[in-house]
Amino acid sequence: AAMAPARRALLAARLLGRAPLSAALRLSSGAEKPWEAGGNGGALQRHLSRKLRATGAVTVAEYMREALTNPGQGYYTRRGGVGRDFVTSPEISQVFGELIGIWFISEWMATGKPKAFQLVELGPGRGTLTDDILRVFNQLASLLSKCDVSVHLVEVSPKLSETQALMLTGGKVQSGPEDKSAYMKGVSKTGIPISWYRDIQDVPPGYSFYLAHEFFDALPIHKFQRTERGWREVLVDIDPEVPDQLRFVLSPSSTPATENFIQPEERRDHVEVCPEAGVIIQRLACRIEKDGGAALVADYGHDGTKTDTFRGFRNHKLHDVLKAPGTADLTADVDFSFLRKMTQGRTATLGPIKQREFLKNMGIDLRLQVLLQNSHDTATQQQLLHSYDMLMNPKKMGDCFHFFALLPHHRLAHPDKKEKPESKSPVAPVAGFGELVLK
Ligand code: SAH
Repeated sequence: AAMAPARRALLAARLLGRAPLSAALRLSSGAEKPWEAGGNGGALQRHLSRKLRATGAVTVAEYMREALTNPGQGYYTRRGGVGRDFVTSPEISQVFGELIGIWFISEWMATGKPKAFQLVELGPGRGTLTDDILRVFNQLASLLSKCDVSVHLVEVSPKLSETQALMLTGGKVQSGPEDKSAYMKGVSKTGIPISWYRDIQDVPPGYSFYLAHEFFDALPIHKFQRTERGWREVLVDIDPEVPDQLRFVLSPSSTPATENFIQPEERRDHVEVCPEAGVIIQRLACRIEKDGGAALVADYGHDGTKTDTFRGFRNHKLHDVLKAPGTADLTADVDFSFLRKMTQGRTATLGPIKQREFLKNMGIDLRLQVLLQNSHDTATQQQLLHSYDMLMNPKKMGDCFHFFALLPHHRLAHPDKKEKPESKSPVAPVAGFGELVLK
């Protein structure tokens, strides 16, 4: 197997040299560059101030959407972010993507090796994860030789889609291709067709493996606070004392969102809800129910227990979410219990399971041993051990990141149960959530 690409080793060496982790997970590194800072006089700040003055306070969801994906000035649209303000597992270690690639292969085999599958990634960042997965597919070329594989990337950021195209195709892409559903097309270094879309609904139907790594945490959330007079929505408006400074306020009465999103049995005093995540999960569940496949969601999150998790990151440091919008990553923990509910029983779900358990079940220890044996310089070995620790250590990413899967119901039910109730052969366990068996 190929060793960690030099760029990754470099990035990781640079980042990992600088322990310790900030409490909220992102690494500390890099100096602020004033010309990139945006500052309070930024265009998005001015746009938002005008808007708030004209229409009054907006929901946190509306604020977050503007800050992250405003077409001209949003954080992902303009700044790109991944690697600069926060670092993600695929950027830390090649092993992460390799094991996810093996997960898809194992599901493909467990469902009788269909003749074709689509790999659909939501929010692919720099494209590193897909690149690592495609390397695994290439290494297993003999197994996949009769299978028609294609890659479909859902990405709203023009800047990041360029980075992805460069990483995956070497930059040879066609923009605005004839078939209008995709906004860009290309072919991977290993010969697999790749298409780019803005919305999951544009991706053609068919047996698909969906992947969302650190995607759902970037979608806009609504925030609610329990008060003596009932639930109120948290809104963003302009501080009248300090011109152009934003502040949180509570809605004077309940809003449509408080009526729709707070469950009567809710016990917490503060609740965050991400309706867009619900809509996307619903779509994935419908597609998997109809055409088969699976979805793997990996993110930091909780099972409906946490309260205030809305955070900003800039240059690997915590950043005030209301300051200089568009210049910092904004994120909120994923509520997996909400995602499970939004499948509406169309698919089965597995997890959330802790990242360190999932990766252990996927054989990360063995993979590390092989890479260590194949590497002959101590710097690379040190880097491999460091990155393993980052992914697996319960105090780092091991415990707070979780894996969650959607699978067709029949994948978990015994195929022969109805016809042959005496049959003892168990259903193949779903790798990662159980043991990995490639048969
Ligand atoms: N999965 C990558 C990147 C995570 S950052 C990794 O783990 O490294 C979040 C990604 O989601 C970015 O690529 C961002 O541009 C994209 N994104 C954010 N909001 C989106 C939306 N509404 N639709 C599609 N992509 C979105």
